[in-house]
Amino acid sequence: MIKGIKGVKDLLPEETPRWRLIEETARRWATGYGFQEIRIPIFEVTTLFARSIGASTDIVEKEMYTFQDRDGTSLTLRPEGTAGTVRAYIEHNRAADPVPQKYFYFGPMFRHERPQAGRLRQFHQFGVESFGIADPRADVEVIALLWRVLSALALPGLTLEINNLGDTADRETYRPQLVAYLKQHEEKLCGNCKRRIETNPLRVLDCKVPDCRTATEAAPHLADTLSEKARTYFAGVLAGLDAIRIPYHLNHRLVRGLDYYGLTTFEVTTTNLGAQNAVGAGGRYDGLVETLGGPPTPAVGFAVGLERMAMMLPDTAVVSTPGYTTVYVAGFGIQGSAAGLLSLEELRKAGIRAVSDFRSGTLKAHLRQADRLGCRYTLIVGDDEVVKGLGVLRNMETKVQLDIPLLSLIPHVLPLLSGS
Ligand code: ATP
Ligand code: MG
Repeated sequence: MIKGIKGVKDLLPEETPRWRLIEETARRWATGYGFQEIRIPIFEVTTLFARSIGASTDIVEKEMYTFQDRDGTSLTLRPEGTAGTVRAYIEHNRAADPVPQKYFYFGPMFRHERPQAGRLRQFHQFGVESFGIADPRADVEVIALLWRVLSALALPGLTLEINNLGDTADRETYRPQLVAYLKQHEEKLCGNCKRRIETNPLRVLDCKVPDCRTATEAAPHLADTLSEKARTYFAGVLAGLDAIRIPYHLNHRLVRGLDYYGLTTFEVTTTNLGAQNAVGAGGRYDGLVETLGGPPTPAVGFAVGLERMAMMLPDTAVVSTPGYTTVYVAGFGIQGSAAGLLSLEELRKAGIRAVSDFRSGTLKAHLRQADRLGCRYTLIVGDDEVVKGLGVLRNMETKVQLDIPLLSLIPHVLPLLSGS
């Protein structure tokens, strides 16, 4: 037996209604906030990710699915959606368009991580990117959208954490101070963090290993080296969140695992997912479009994990879809089977949900399947009915049966269905 790949999951029909609810909710809110859908490819040239996410991040160092194309070009399955969206924004010269460039996307992402609950190798994200607006209200808008989507789905135990990463110069000032501190406490850090002191010291603050957290308890705060400009900007973001009543917690340790973020960074965590407590995250990335060869373009965005949202979604949120009248067509016998197939198609063309089980050869077997499938009506078409030109429409609940002329099926059936 050939099995699926480790960390790559199937979504069976029992689960897809939860996913549809999440996707429909996200799409509705994103559209309401003036975002438009973009669909970008699943694979891109490797340098796009290396250059944007950052060479010394976990993603680029050890999580990317990278392979050689037949001509030797190095390609990578996208580990996130921002890089591709930015590439598309630049490639299609969207900066020249005076209309706000606010995009949302859905789709699978790929990271070679150790699979566990809520951590997969193929997972799915809903994300948004807002280009061209260097105004705290753009950050507020993006954060509000994330918060509204999660709240609309009634996901439990949510906290919005937010931090100010300052601008590049602020982080340059801060970096040596932090490195000096980390070097003094090096022996208390995990192996990963020892290495990060040189490559990506800010990430040490974000490490989940308890010893690392204790060791960095007294580390200098980035907040203390921020420029006046960065402070004012961030104060504007917080004031906006206050004004629209979105609750947040300041978390000075919050550093994202992608290099392109500056100023506002945020993450929504939950108390309901165990170790994988991050539901979604994002921030401002004013330098990225330029880094990738585009015009200077301020930008802000987020991405949320659909698997984690689906895990948290209360069962009560997903209502099965009754109200749908399904007609089961029981065609049996030689002429009855043929006429049944025709009726089935007529019903469907008229927009009526209609099903049959072609394995059933007797009326009894058909009726049993109609019950199992929860159908409201069964149209019985055996050889006798064909001879008379009359099918029998049986109400599965009341067992009341009605003769219906097979040649004008739809005009006879429709009024019955809409009245039920
Ligand atoms: P984490 O801290 O859990 O590793 P991250 O910082 O790597 O998350 P981002 O790159 O910010 O995550 O991605 C945004 C969201 O995508 C996460 O909050 C999470 O919901 C989801 N996500 C990220 N990686 C995975 C994965 N391997 N499996 C499932 N969902 C994921
Ligand atoms: Mg990660």
